[in-house]
Amino acid sequence: MGNTSYAIALGSNRRSRYGSPAETVRAAAEALRPLAVSRIRLTPALGPAGRSFANAALILASGGEPPELLAELKALEHSFGRRGGRRWGPRVLDLDIILWSQGTWADPSLSVPHPQFRTRTFVLEPLAELVPGWRDPVSGLTVRQLLTRARAASPVDRGIPRT
Ligand code: ATP
Ligand code: CA
Ligand code: CA
Repeated sequence: MGNTSYAIALGSNRRSRYGSPAETVRAAAEALRPLAVSRIRLTPALGPAGRSFANAALILASGGEPPELLAELKALEHSFGRRGGRRWGPRVLDLDIILWSQGTWADPSLSVPHPQFRTRTFVLEPLAELVPGWRDPVSGLTVRQLLTRARAASPVDRGIPRT
């Protein structure tokens, strides 16, 4: 299992004790000691009530199975100040498991690959910087192909990140 690797997506749209969303994502990425990290992508808030987003991706070497890693990621989210919170609501830090080198995992609380990543350009763009040729075991398409497809399918969503 020593060569097992994961692709992780990071997002923030709230300040933490580490600073802005971008500084928060940078600090979280460093804490995970990754093999590689993408650029941090920033999207300014749209409208007066909006929040700015920071998104990135990284590659992690880990021998553990997905539930073990998810527990570590949730502990890190918590240590960055995330507390409960609604889905889609403002959050200090969101860490999702996107891909696993060993293929798929599915149990009631965890699905890998991440069920929504194929349509999310804010996940696919940073991922394509790092591992454009990584093949999704479900669709058989590479990250690069998925990004091309996602951009074509939802041009309106381009550049609108979420976490
Ligand atoms: P989305 O999953 O659509 O990006 P979210 O990240 O806002 O939404 P959360 O509230 O952070 O959702 O997580 C809800 C639950 O999703 C987690 O507690 C976890 O058990 C589950 N989950 C399922 N698959 C994954 C995955 N691949 N990575 C992270 N969490 C996952
Ligand atoms: Ca999440
Ligand atoms: Ca998420």
